[in-house]
Amino acid sequence: MVKVAFIGLGRMGHGMAGRYLDAGFTVAVWNRSKGKAVDLIARGARWAASPEDAAIGADAVVTMVADDEASRAVWLTGDGAATTMKPGTIAIECSTVSYHHTLEMARELRRRGLIYVDSPVTGLPDAAATGKLTLLVGADPADLERARPFLIPLATTIWHFGAVGSGTVYKLINNLMGAIQIAGIAEGLAIAEQAGLDMKLVLEAVETGVAASPQVIRHSRRMVERNFAGATFTASLRQKDAAYAVALAESLLRDAPIMGRAAVAAYDRAKSHAPDDDEGRMIEIVSRPKGDSAG
Ligand code: NAP
Repeated sequence: MVKVAFIGLGRMGHGMAGRYLDAGFTVAVWNRSKGKAVDLIARGARWAASPEDAAIGADAVVTMVADDEASRAVWLTGDGAATTMKPGTIAIECSTVSYHHTLEMARELRRRGLIYVDSPVTGLPDAAATGKLTLLVGADPADLERARPFLIPLATTIWHFGAVGSGTVYKLINNLMGAIQIAGIAEGLAIAEQAGLDMKLVLEAVETGVAASPQVIRHSRRMVERNFAGATFTASLRQKDAAYAVALAESLLRDAPIMGRAAVAAYDRAKSHAPDDDEGRMIEIVSRPKGDSAG
């Protein structure tokens, strides 16, 4: 039976690990806090004492953790997965990490005889739990073919952007463009509110007008209604992705990113306001009326 180790059972990882169980893989799971693994264990996953333990005998190790720091911790520290992975084993990083980190990990794991594939994802937690993610892959073509059986249970679409790191480049530009758009939606709606427009009409016009995009459709109504129930993507994660994208932009472009830096500044504020809540709460930051001296 094909063995997979899955590390990181947050909003996204929990559902993704479940997909391997559904597909009949032998699954070992680890998460920093064990509580999130309970139902996966009940469904047949083996609870591992550490990432290192999870990786024993695995044909592939898949990670879905918060950021560079978490990724380094689960792959490379004393009890990291790389410690026990057999040479030739596939390491699939689904977490959104920085470009610099991706290249460093690829080098470090290759030095240990392992194969590193970056495969960040787009799609919300419900897509993760139902195998409907889009995977953004950076890998040598031969490595992608070796990884493919472990990608298929997660996704409806696999985009191969090129060599290791290229999936992460795409993910970071995608999320930077999203950060700019979401902050822009919040600002536009806040102006309309303060100017006293009929927001029902504004919503209808925005959702059907030339500025409409999937982000507008997803966020504008929730922002106007201040309805942030069921947060799927948090202000902290958005700030992290935008900051990683800006670092990449600064290494490539002379005069940019102009909008990117503004988005990071906006999400720095959103992160201090409500780090673990929905990124759409950006509207609460930008909608304070002129003359409001509170806070
Ligand atoms: P989440 O619910 O906050 O989960 C974060 C995961 O990382 C948890 O398993 C957490 O462990 C673990 N973690 C954090 N710091 C750690 C550390 N220092 N050492 C070990 N583990 C650590 O986040 P998520 O929404 O699932 O997102 C996971 C990744 O997917 C992120 O890179 C995010 O940017 C990306 N992503 C998210 C979405 C989305 O819609 N949510 C969509 C696409 C991509 P604990 O459970 O113990 O805290």
